[in-house]
Amino acid sequence: MHNRDAVFLEDLCPKLRNRRWRKSLHQFTGHSCIYCGKSSESIDHVLPRSRGGLSITENCVPACLSCNGSKTDYDAFEWYRKQRFYDPRRSMAIRAWTDGDIRLALRLLKWAQPKPIESLKNSKSRSNDDYSWQAA
Ligand SMILES: [Zn+2]
Repeated sequence: MHNRDAVFLEDLCPKLRNRRWRKSLHQFTGHSCIYCGKSSESIDHVLPRSRGGLSITENCVPACLSCNGSKTDYDAFEWYRKQRFYDPRRSMAIRAWTDGDIRLALRLLKWAQPKPIESLKNSKSRSNDDYSWQAA
């Protein structure tokens, strides 16, 4: 009942749909900037609107205010290569994102994030298990 109301509301009010869409973009990356990994407070157009970039998922990525502000009207890939925090894996992720392959983009982003300590511990204990199996 409420869901149908929401869809109806969205049809009447494109602004609400726009807000939801922006929120979903941030959720894709866990609210982190696609360029540097800091918390994303804005949506950046990979191809700037001034150059004909569209406001569609393939052209819009979550970005922090600092990246968004420094990139301005540059081409995202050109600009990103010159940054201190440049990471080729993130660059590939942005490329995948603009190709419409969000899933691949998120996998690349995960890869670019430093490994959490927990997973390191797990892999260590697993190799110990292998060793004890050999000893027995
Ligand atoms: Zn950033």
